[in-house]
Amino acid sequence: MLEVGKKEFWFVVGSQHLYGEEALNSVREDAQKMVDGLNESGKFAYPIVLQDLAVTADVITDIMKEVNYRDEVAGVITWMHTFSPAKMWIRGTKLLQKPLLHLATQFNESIPWDTIDMDFMNLNQSAHGDREYGFINARLNKKNKVVFGYWKNDDVKEQIARWMDVAVAYNESFNIKVARFGDNMRNVGVTEGDKVEAQIQLGWTVDYFGIGDLVQYIDAVTDEEVNALFAEYKDLYDFDYGDYDHKTWEDHVKVQARQEIGMRRFLEAGGYSAFSTNFEDLYGMQQLPGLAVQRLNAEGYGFAGEGDWKTAAIDRLMKIMSHNENTGFMEDYTYELASGKEAILESHMMEVDPTLAINKPKIVVSPLSMGDREDPARLVFDGKAGDGVVVSMADFGTHYKLLINEVDAFTPEEQAPNLPVARVMWTPQPNLYDGVKAWIQAGGGHHTVLSLNLTTDQIETWAKLVDLETVVIK
Ligand code: MN
Repeated sequence: MLEVGKKEFWFVVGSQHLYGEEALNSVREDAQKMVDGLNESGKFAYPIVLQDLAVTADVITDIMKEVNYRDEVAGVITWMHTFSPAKMWIRGTKLLQKPLLHLATQFNESIPWDTIDMDFMNLNQSAHGDREYGFINARLNKKNKVVFGYWKNDDVKEQIARWMDVAVAYNESFNIKVARFGDNMRNVGVTEGDKVEAQIQLGWTVDYFGIGDLVQYIDAVTDEEVNALFAEYKDLYDFDYGDYDHKTWEDHVKVQARQEIGMRRFLEAGGYSAFSTNFEDLYGMQQLPGLAVQRLNAEGYGFAGEGDWKTAAIDRLMKIMSHNENTGFMEDYTYELASGKEAILESHMMEVDPTLAINKPKIVVSPLSMGDREDPARLVFDGKAGDGVVVSMADFGTHYKLLINEVDAFTPEEQAPNLPVARVMWTPQPNLYDGVKAWIQAGGGHHTVLSLNLTTDQIETWAKLVDLETVVIK
């Protein structure tokens, strides 16, 4: 599994000196209880670390500078226990270059009518402090997230956890490196794009390599390494020999094992976390990588076919956000138009992401009508069911546009004995007809990334941070 490295979030509590040291001690104690409670809830993939109380502009500015400097800090969560005059926050907030979540919550859930006095009111005035602080974030156009609710509630924790995943993906977006094995498929429009702009706006490094550069790595893989990996396949997958004799079939599968090892080494050597291939660009390769790509997808590598580096990078980004669960590259293929069954069959020539598999995948060898190479091996399975999002990005010449469609994915009940690729089925929201029309009208591509673990709000939160125009269909 491709790791993103250790990450944490800093928790900064707003207050001021006006209420005296005793009140500040209470703020400090409550903040520690809140941070401990959140960390101990087990709801977060990353730890929350309490910082000094934000009681002066200097303290706030120092904290934010440190956040920017430290790679392991993925973002800042702020909470206003008391009123905290927002002019103190201007300098630090302006300097902050990482995602910001304003947790609008209160230490106590209820108003204690029997005992409440002005001391209590002064100490527990989140409603007051939230508005003063929120104003300055809005005025600074900070694109911060606001989560509101009682901090012990699960839905509040889930909103924080989902934002954390976005924040980590935002930080890691600047480390995404895409290796392009070959250029874009000839004549295709939607897979093209301005790579310089993508690096400026989204942080992605996109590098081209001739196929020979990769072939060198593949050819250097030893037979022992191939046989060892083939043995691993036996444990993980069903073998479907079809009409092939066993020797021919196994030779074809071992070509993919060799490609898998060679590609992984190439990607590791260059620090690449995503890649694209092109079936028109296979000089020196025996097969179009199919199984090899799917295996790398399972490890967290982003991918898209036909040189589509944009979708490959989005795939990697969404895999970071979803912890590589139920997320992968897709292509719209065939409509199901029968009344009551409306859906789209999603697949690709071979490279369907096994993180979406509901059943144990089987390895199938089958001819490929494109690519002019020997019959490649691939994993075949059916897709999982669930609510999800489908994301695609297109270059409109003046700017990039991100399309998001909410979908209901389901596992097909019918058999498809002659289909040698994995299948994923979904019905777009709000329904097939309006969803497809809106997608096409907005210029959405046929290459997408599906995630059954992410929400529209998460994708939009990231898009907002990087100033991407979005179209949401739901
Ligand atoms: Mn394609």
